[in-house]
Amino acid sequence: MQNELRKSVDSENWSLISQIEPSSVGCALCPVSDEKVEETFRIEDEKGRWVTKSIVDPYPVTHPTSFKLKENGLFQSYNAHGWSEIVVETRDHSKEFHELSSEEIKNVLLVYVNRIKELRKRDGVLFIGIVKDNQRLEFDHSYSKIFTLPILPRVIKEKIEKFEDYQYKYEKCIYCDIIEKEKDTSRFIFDNEHFIVITPFSQNLPNQVLIFPKKHYSCLTQLSDYEIFSLAETIKNILTRFSAAFKPLKYSMVFYIKPNKSEDFHFHISISQKTFHSSIKEGYDISFNRFSPEDTAKILRGG
Ligand SMILES: [Zn+2]
Ligand SMILES: [Zn+2]
Repeated sequence: MQNELRKSVDSENWSLISQIEPSSVGCALCPVSDEKVEETFRIEDEKGRWVTKSIVDPYPVTHPTSFKLKENGLFQSYNAHGWSEIVVETRDHSKEFHELSSEEIKNVLLVYVNRIKELRKRDGVLFIGIVKDNQRLEFDHSYSKIFTLPILPRVIKEKIEKFEDYQYKYEKCIYCDIIEKEKDTSRFIFDNEHFIVITPFSQNLPNQVLIFPKKHYSCLTQLSDYEIFSLAETIKNILTRFSAAFKPLKYSMVFYIKPNKSEDFHFHISISQKTFHSSIKEGYDISFNRFSPEDTAKILRGG
């Protein structure tokens, strides 16, 4: 079964049709399943065991196929060409991401960095999405999803347009200006040497907070080793505050990094309370559908 990306006829929205159903047999991410998964990268402990790793996603958002526009008058769609991977954040089946130490979260970030560097070189990759939530929907084990897209989701397209317009008009980065202004407002939460955490002026998601690097970096691949550790500490700090403030803890974390063909950007991370939507819908506004529109119509016609 091939996933398909369809563009809305009357808006910039994309929807993804994925008919691959998650299986509920055993835990595919525990070390006991090592033989059954296709590993792409790992970080090991001193005994040579993986502590964090990435594997090919058995329930992919995008998968390698031909990237061809299928156009029929009003209607535009593509095969959902790309690569999707799962980052297994810990060997420990019961541990949640926010319970990991800053050193362990740093390892997860290092896997993201490695996969971004590797995946962005591949054909037809326009954007790389990273989403993490603690809902354990596809696997009952703490994981994040990293996937490439052959198109720019509406949210990213708009962010890039705003960023470029502002740069053209004021010769400055809109996000560097936001950081400068927000550190003295009531939307400031905390900062450290390298990162600042604020709530956005207009929240798109419930209890949304944004993490920005203070330096103008377009992607987390530009962070030094120490800055990656500092980002891990920042994420741990805000998630600890989330778990104390909002019970039960249900959150999504979404990364906004520079798309492949854009010249510049200032990367940031959104953390918000999880809604009933998928994290991919929340973060990038791509609807994730298990039924195709034709299937919905068929069901409602009565078969
Ligand atoms: Zn497990
Ligand atoms: Zn900037």
